[in-house]
Amino acid sequence: MPVRVTKDADGLHFKPSEGGLATGLGSIYKQGDNLWIGWPGLLINQGIERINVTEKLKSENMHPIFLTKTEIKNYYEGFSNETLWPIFHYFSQYSVYNETFWEAYVQVNQKFCDEVVNFLDAGDTLWIHDYQLLLLPEMIRQQFPNLSIGFFLHIPFPSYEMFRLIPWRRQLLNGMLGADLVGFHTYDDMRHFLSSVSRLAGYGYTSGQVNKPDRKVIVDSFPMGIDYQKYADAAASPETIEREIRYRTSLGDQQLILSIDRLDYSKGIPQRLKAFERFLEQYPEFKEKVSLVMLVVPSRDKVSKYQELKEDVDLLVGRINGKFGRINWTPIHYFYRSLPLEALSGFYRMAHVALVTPMRDGMNLVCKEFIASKLNQKGVLILSEMCGASKELSDAILINPNDLNAMVEALHRALTMPEEEQIAHISVMQESLQRYNIHHWVNMFMERLNEIKDDQATLSTKFLDQNMKELAKKRFNKVGKRLLFLDYDGTLIPFSDTPEKAAPDDELINLLTNLAADERNQVVIISGRDRESLEKWLGHLHLDFIGEHGVWIKERGTDWRTLTNLSDQWKQELKPMLELYVDRTPGSFIEEKDYSLVWHHRKVETGLGELRTRELSSHLKHLTTNMNLQVLEGDMVVEIKNAQVNKGKAAQQWIKDFPSDYIIAIGDDWTDEDTFKAVPEDALTVKVGSTSSAAKYNLNSPKEVRQFLKYLL
Ligand code: UDP
Repeated sequence: MPVRVTKDADGLHFKPSEGGLATGLGSIYKQGDNLWIGWPGLLINQGIERINVTEKLKSENMHPIFLTKTEIKNYYEGFSNETLWPIFHYFSQYSVYNETFWEAYVQVNQKFCDEVVNFLDAGDTLWIHDYQLLLLPEMIRQQFPNLSIGFFLHIPFPSYEMFRLIPWRRQLLNGMLGADLVGFHTYDDMRHFLSSVSRLAGYGYTSGQVNKPDRKVIVDSFPMGIDYQKYADAAASPETIEREIRYRTSLGDQQLILSIDRLDYSKGIPQRLKAFERFLEQYPEFKEKVSLVMLVVPSRDKVSKYQELKEDVDLLVGRINGKFGRINWTPIHYFYRSLPLEALSGFYRMAHVALVTPMRDGMNLVCKEFIASKLNQKGVLILSEMCGASKELSDAILINPNDLNAMVEALHRALTMPEEEQIAHISVMQESLQRYNIHHWVNMFMERLNEIKDDQATLSTKFLDQNMKELAKKRFNKVGKRLLFLDYDGTLIPFSDTPEKAAPDDELINLLTNLAADERNQVVIISGRDRESLEKWLGHLHLDFIGEHGVWIKERGTDWRTLTNLSDQWKQELKPMLELYVDRTPGSFIEEKDYSLVWHHRKVETGLGELRTRELSSHLKHLTTNMNLQVLEGDMVVEIKNAQVNKGKAAQQWIKDFPSDYIIAIGDDWTDEDTFKAVPEDALTVKVGSTSSAAKYNLNSPKEVRQFLKYLL
């Protein structure tokens, strides 16, 4: 929350919290009827204490959700900080996988959901923050299907190889995908998330857009800025200047290196201390001339890894000070506490070098605050490549925090850098931070969320809703003859690993039997499937067929026939090449139809299949230039077929041969687009899925198609 509630013998105290998020959103959350809902950060007793906190926060547009002692232990310290935090920061060896922690995490997310919905109206916008609430977007979505929900992750999203270690990985991803917009600090976090979504949750994506059956979810990066003016103003304030003079007088005439972080193993504090130690060994001329001012803010001190780290840091500081210290010189000034803005600002002003070297950090705001506080533009920033901010601040001296020598050399370079060079670098970084400040971040996120909602609204006008279904049914009942073109895979039945597994279930058989039982209906299965499969699965029903995209035709009660004089000679020529791709791509296989060849990659490792598809398609397009063949990229397949046949031509011929009063065409992939274009304007065309289409309406899944057909019946 944007306030810090503390408790002592005198009672409860409310102080503004200094974090970047709180100050940044501070400008908007107090506007209008915005409300900030969160955990106040400490155990508050039931009864009058909770009532007091709630009342006090209400007057500031905030609402608290209280956690019990067990919830704090299992949900906050446990799952959030001992499971998610280490894995997301690539410290998998510290991660604890504990069923009780997980249950608490689900339960507290549910608790948030139950409270939040009390405040929600359908037209509201909800912005959910960070790794403690990964399940919340989906929980809210269940109750408010059309609510505008944004989610932002403030820590890194790890590579798939890390993320997949978590036993509850799928639930976490699906939780996040309840949002309309999922934001990260960097492009790398975003692509790691997308990779996990496609590998673990099974949803495909195209340039930052996850294609869920019910909705599109946009994934994007929004590097968070700081409240630049606030830090620049603080640095210019008389109070800060007075503090700087005071600190300087006690420290004497030394160069200062500044280090500020919360106590956390992700911050690389021991490594930094070792680098400083080696620097003093390697460059003894800096002894008594330079000191490290190290501020460590207490954090998560109930978690054992943090207690161990605290001991390590204490020992290291003691050892280095013991080894190099003089009566008149302390190498490291170490503070283990939190300081107010004026004190931080004083430190930022007087430090020559800021040494910000986390092993992993989602963004890191300290480095940005240091730059904003350098009013005279003199100073040097040494920054770890492993933090989000390094993607924006390329004018800093960038180092790998595992490379001790690089840190030592960076310190030497920073402490000897000419002033003009310092000014050149700092001014470039200041310009960028001024522009991409926290207000900009909030605006960019909110604008994007609004755009997505507008897009969804446009799409949903195409959704075949109850109203449209009723109109369709009315017409269906009124007319004499109806013609239904139904695609099979992805339309009547969901996709499966191998083509043979997509046999119709009893429900589908019943549905098609009932549809065909009405003499007014002519039901045409229009499919890319070979005629053998269609015959085996559906041949016994009173249906008509267009198979292999139009190569084969079968009218009720007659035999299969082919309309055109097609050649299949080319198959012998091209098959060896497809075999080569099967050899190179484990899991892929060839399906041979009478007049086409299909290379399937549904079971191939994610990523490799797509790569091979691109190679194979371009290879084939080159080879088939003069062969009157067409190369199609379908859903996890590449298909080669005769160019003169397609579903559209077949449908057109059919409509001529069998006049009807009402045509309905339903299909899911782009081979069905030819059908949609071939039918007359007054036909009802329905695309399964939410990508753009020539069809007039959308449905989300084969399940919805079946529901619609049943409804017509
Ligand atoms: N901070 C503070 N008081 C202190 C030390 C730090 O208010 O004594 C603030 C600092 O100004 C910064 C935030 O804490 O805004 C730390 O944010 P950062 O992103 O660097 O690290 P995090 O703690 O979020 O991992």
